[in-house]
Amino acid sequence: MRHTDIVIVGGGLAGSTAAAVLGRAGISTILIDPHQVHSPELRCEKISGRPQLDRFFRTGIAEAVLPATTLDGENWIARFGFLIDKKPSQQYGIMYDALVNAVRAAIPSGVETIHAKATSIATSAERQTVTLSNGEEISARLVVMANGLNVGLREKLGIQRHVISPCHSISIGFDIAPVGRAAFAFPAMTYFSERTVHRTAYLTLFPIGDRMRGNLFVYRAADDPWLRQMRRTPEQALDACLPKLRRLIGDYTINGDIKIRPADLYVSSGYRQAGVVLIGDAFASPCPGSGTGTDKVFTDVERLCRVHIPNWLATSGMSADKIATFYDDPVKTTCDIRATAKAFTLRSVTIDDGLVWQARRWARFLGRLGEGIVRRTRDRLSPRRVTGDIMRSVATATTRVHPENL
Ligand SMILES: Cc1cc2nc3c(=O)[nH]c(=O)nc-3n(C[C@H](O)[C@H](O)[C@H](O)COP(=O)(O)OP(=O)(O)OC[C@H]3O[C@@H](n4cnc5c(N)ncnc54)[C@H](O)[C@@H]3O)c2cc1C
Repeated sequence: MRHTDIVIVGGGLAGSTAAAVLGRAGISTILIDPHQVHSPELRCEKISGRPQLDRFFRTGIAEAVLPATTLDGENWIARFGFLIDKKPSQQYGIMYDALVNAVRAAIPSGVETIHAKATSIATSAERQTVTLSNGEEISARLVVMANGLNVGLREKLGIQRHVISPCHSISIGFDIAPVGRAAFAFPAMTYFSERTVHRTAYLTLFPIGDRMRGNLFVYRAADDPWLRQMRRTPEQALDACLPKLRRLIGDYTINGDIKIRPADLYVSSGYRQAGVVLIGDAFASPCPGSGTGTDKVFTDVERLCRVHIPNWLATSGMSADKIATFYDDPVKTTCDIRATAKAFTLRSVTIDDGLVWQARRWARFLGRLGEGIVRRTRDRLSPRRVTGDIMRSVATATTRVHPENL
């Protein structure tokens, strides 16, 4: 039997980031995941937004991973077929498998990775035993469960999953390219839905390498015929749910594999146990469209691996009371509450026809429009721009009065 302080079950974004953070802190850790290289699947395809990026930097791993991403620099915001803002933007595009593999590359060599499945876990307030599919056993002070949507192992520990919103949203990922031009006019674009009847939250277009990637988030039943149309004639399906998109981005084609993935929202119960702690999707699933999944992952990892685990290891035992300090951590609970609230708000603001939601839709639109107007006005009046305009006028006037031109 191998002995370690921490065994991490699952090497997706949460487990691999945790292994990198713990390994860099010199904490004895073993990572378990069946796959040597994470295979392609539709999950988050960019890291963006202030809280997410701040928390990613706080894990200490961001610097090693961001060079593998594509930064957009500017994001055009559009609605009803109109461009309402061109925002400076920090969206770092990367396919999920490449993201996980980049994080894994940042795991120090002191962390051993075993390519197998964890098949059972026996826990106690002192040491835990994890049994693997290859017959090996690992003894650890703490098991970090980062095995994502896979519920079997958690159920064996009496941890239950409760779906709070079945098929809450459907995510669709594809490559999109302009027709008859070398590139789109925009570096990246977020196009918000036009009408509630289209059941579409938004489309985000962003670069990954030399490809333009599209992520579309819709609220439909899993057997909705529109999803079949999206697979067969994707351009027509996209035109049907965002009718004015084409007039803004021009003629386009959708290439290659179209990935469609429904997501349930769920939470866990019975997880306050000695010797085991849940992070990332293993604890609760986010709504992909609300873009809070990676925020939750990085918050969990940063709080657990930089604050709680070092404290727990400093004293003997691994009681349920110790573990509870992570679940009750105010930074974590605030992030979780915000993620759940955002999931339901985005859905209602997209498809709800009630007066309150209509008002909130218009408030959002006017807010974004106002932001765009302020930015454009500020840009026009910025000293650099004004100086540039004056210099250009002087240059033109000088050219006109140059003796050779008289
Ligand atoms: C379609 C979709 C789109 C999304 N888009 C976004 C987005 O735009 N923005 C955003 O912020 N979030 C998004 N998310 C959410 C985000 O991708 C997830 O929250 C995040 O990837 C969760 O990472 P994780 O490590 O917890 O889980 P996972 O990445 O699922 O990792 C679980 C790992 O556990 C391993 N495993 C499973 N069982 C075992 C076992 N028995 N033994 C050992 N290993 C095991 C698996 O092999 C896997 O590597 C999206 C999610 C989905 C589904």
